[in-house]
Amino acid sequence: MTTAPSARKATEAAAASRGCASNVRASVQQQSAPLNAASLPEHDRPLVWIDGQLYPKTQAKISVFDHGLLYGDGCFEGIRVYRGKIFKCGRHMDRIFRNAERLRMKMPWSRDEVVAVMRQCIAANNITEGYIRLLFTRGYGTLGLDPRKCPRPSMICICDQIALYPPELYRDGMKVIIAKRPKTPTVCLDPSLKSLNYLNNILAKCEAIDAGCLEAVMLSVDGYVGECTGDNLFIVKNGEVFTSPLDVGMLDGITREFVMKTLCPQVGVKCTEKKLRVDDLLGADEVFLTGTAAEIIAVTQVGDKKISAGEGPTTRKLRDRFRQIVTGDAVPED
Ligand code: PMP
Repeated sequence: MTTAPSARKATEAAAASRGCASNVRASVQQQSAPLNAASLPEHDRPLVWIDGQLYPKTQAKISVFDHGLLYGDGCFEGIRVYRGKIFKCGRHMDRIFRNAERLRMKMPWSRDEVVAVMRQCIAANNITEGYIRLLFTRGYGTLGLDPRKCPRPSMICICDQIALYPPELYRDGMKVIIAKRPKTPTVCLDPSLKSLNYLNNILAKCEAIDAGCLEAVMLSVDGYVGECTGDNLFIVKNGEVFTSPLDVGMLDGITREFVMKTLCPQVGVKCTEKKLRVDDLLGADEVFLTGTAAEIIAVTQVGDKKISAGEGPTTRKLRDRFRQIVTGDAVPED
């Protein structure tokens, strides 16, 4: 499919007029009079960074020709800010740059420039505790899939608050179901690619909502327990922690890694990767989920099966240690 040069020019001009075409170096510079969200009315907060400029919420828009919108062509990160620090910033940069490369995006920004954008956005929105949503989209193009018709990717950075689950669920634990819909097999679309296409997960989430709960465990096509729609999953059995290995098909969660490599050793609990079956899940002493937005949360019921009466002792220990770290003076940015 081709587009007449005049039409393409108009598309580019429109995009340029709202910042899509700003050049890379300019894109990470502060605007001449730095905007601050404090000076804006509530409905215009937060300020959103798009391709080199901060826009009040009501003006934070992208082109309808952006392939992120048209096709889900892009990748993203959800990142926490604790005490003004970007939690596990290095790992998030590793992941998004790796995913952009897998999508064959030609990245005009360096890692340092992207981090600078996030810090600028945090400052402009006066965030000390919050959440960053960072997106790389394929950018605006033509009405066809061909990514070569998109001259440059777009970067969007949103800094805001997030509350994934009601606070009482952190105290009492939550119910999940096992989704009927399996996870897209890795050979079709690797779930470790955190792309802008979350439909497989969204439809599983709808199954959960239909069943009166907020999360669904997703199985691989061969029946192994993978992850939930927006969190990784762990079980506790006889005081030991287990989670399925990444090759079952799941996101390589940064909180998952933090639990395995930092929290479990610190609280003196053994953690092992093992391909989990539904029976392992239903027979667990404790189940918990991990994610940037969810942090660590206990699951007390899977479908009709009661797992535990409230948050179990191992989950509690891990969650307490997690809170200690993210409320302490050494929030890790590596
Ligand atoms: N799995 C899926 C499908 C997710 O969307 C998320 C949230 N990013 C996670 C797991 C947890 O990953 P992380 O700890 O990196 O946020």
